[in-house]
Amino acid sequence: MSKVETKHNKMLNATQGLKNIMGRHFLAIEQAYRDGKPTAWATSGSPVEMLYAMDVQPMLPENSATVSAAQKLSQNFIEIAEEQGYSYDLCSYFKTNVGAVSSNAGMTEGGTRKPRFMLSTDVICDTHVNWFQVQAEKMNVPHFTIDVPHVVSNTNNRQLQYFKKYISEQLYEFIDFMQEVTGHEYNEEKAREVTENSWNLSMVWQDIYKLRKEVPCPISTRDTFGGLFPLFTMPGLKEPIKLYKRMYREAKQRVDSGIGALQNEEFRLMFEGIPFWYHLKFFSKLEQWNSIIVYEPYTYAFSKYMNPNVTKEMVFSKPIEAMSELMMSFWYVYDLETRIKKFAETVEEWKIDGVLLHENLSCRPNSCGLYDLKKHLMDDFDIPCLVITADMNDPRKLNEIQVTNQIESFIEILRKRKKK
Ligand code: SF4
Repeated sequence: MSKVETKHNKMLNATQGLKNIMGRHFLAIEQAYRDGKPTAWATSGSPVEMLYAMDVQPMLPENSATVSAAQKLSQNFIEIAEEQGYSYDLCSYFKTNVGAVSSNAGMTEGGTRKPRFMLSTDVICDTHVNWFQVQAEKMNVPHFTIDVPHVVSNTNNRQLQYFKKYISEQLYEFIDFMQEVTGHEYNEEKAREVTENSWNLSMVWQDIYKLRKEVPCPISTRDTFGGLFPLFTMPGLKEPIKLYKRMYREAKQRVDSGIGALQNEEFRLMFEGIPFWYHLKFFSKLEQWNSIIVYEPYTYAFSKYMNPNVTKEMVFSKPIEAMSELMMSFWYVYDLETRIKKFAETVEEWKIDGVLLHENLSCRPNSCGLYDLKKHLMDDFDIPCLVITADMNDPRKLNEIQVTNQIESFIEILRKRKKK
């Protein structure tokens, strides 16, 4: 029996390679400082590909914040930030970064070194912009921000065209900005290579996700929660593509052999929101109720190329225009109407029994509209939903006993529905 066929092997063997890939990312950052290569902080949702295309080494403080939480270091940094006057309710990624940077913590503990410049965008949230503004001023480095208007249900085509142009103009300005700050020239050949790698990386991730439609589901959050990091730290590089391909092949083998990530799959769940990075083991608890999460909008969202209007041809021939359109159609910026529709479609396609919605106490974009979403999914589509309250990086905001009890009762409801 090969390893992939053993009953207890819940995480894909290939996912173990993630540590190496992320290790290489951190080494590349160290190397950049040694070589004097320009570095940049970037927020999630920003066009990190453009940094790689200009030979700038990206650093994602959100990524460092999650690593910090996974090592149980985030609470200390959050409290340091609160001592500096930042409120209890502010984003815990931001506060982890503030505390870690002011403590001179290493990158793998939550810190992020002073970069040549910073790149932010308000595509996901305004905190990103304010966060980098605060840190850029403290560190005395230039900060470029990309403003992305939000598309809502009554945005008309004329406005849409205007938004696209508005974002494209900023992306062209960003190239000028980088040329000035780094002295690097824009290289079309390099940009094409990065674009191709970014596209390929996302496509394999989407293929992995499609395999999760299978019953039993071959991939659990043990593979996806961590597996998403290369998507937003390394879009444009070749290495993570190989890793994702290995993950895909192994998962496909499981599908072909009828093996699931969970031995007795009874309930298929969707998890909306950011996981609790300081307590990922919490999600293993679901297994005791034969439940498995088969879809997370959060980890899927970073596969970026999901807008059917943005074809491969467009991405390759007009990368800036394609990027502008993609920045407006990210999973996390959907208006409520689109969000409800996408959730209902996903529940059907991935054969989901119930939805867990994480009301994240320090993240407004994640929590806003959650109760409306729940009401519509339950009333209009008869989809069982449960809202649980916690925080992605601040362990003080998770009441584990309470949330466990809530989930247990929810599973009971799902069990009764199945028996009907
Ligand atoms: S508020 Fe939410 S979306 Fe914004 S940086 Fe924090 S976690 Fe991310």
